[in-house]
Amino acid sequence: MTIYWDRCDLCGQYRPTSKCSLFPEIMVDVHCCFACPHREGKCKTPVWRVETLIQPQVSRKGLSDREKEKLLKELTTLLKGFPETITYE
Ligand SMILES: [Zn+2]
Repeated sequence: MTIYWDRCDLCGQYRPTSKCSLFPEIMVDVHCCFACPHREGKCKTPVWRVETLIQPQVSRKGLSDREKEKLLKELTTLLKGFPETITYE
């Protein structure tokens, strides 16, 4: 599903919009999609669903000691050569 920050064809507000499942020629935002009377009938797969709004949690793992050391080495390498060009007063 592709979400565009665009103008909703129904209410005219600039919001994240997506192509309507029932009428592909219109772009609809989440508010108008949920308020649509076709949700309970004709529209079997509304483009905005509760599941699409709940993003899966991204787990943030800490770096291992080995990764930290590697990163530090890379940064140190990048910094080499810079002190000569920068003067602090
Ligand atoms: Zn709208």
